[in-house]
Amino acid sequence: MKYPKELMAYCPNCNAHTEHKAKLASKGKARPLAVGNRKHERKLMGHGGKRAGEKSVKKQGKRQKVILECAQCRKKQERVIGSRTKKKLEFSA
Ligand SMILES: [Zn+2]
Repeated sequence: MKYPKELMAYCPNCNAHTEHKAKLASKGKARPLAVGNRKHERKLMGHGGKRAGEKSVKKQGKRQKVILECAQCRKKQERVIGSRTKKKLEFSA
């Protein structure tokens, strides 16, 4: 999927439509003690059946998140693109 590098979008700080720069949101640092990570590690230790090499769930695509930066006030807004994609967003000029 392609997405424009620069676009007009609403900025709540300026309360108007202004030029925005688009950038793909990057993943934050993983927290090793977060509930989900502890749960995952417990699962890897064993107990409970799962056969190696067999997948029960087919992977679904992810929704992409884009960070929009206002050219006037430099504030950032995030925007989620509704459709799921398996490939990363491409930015077109
Ligand atoms: Zn602004």
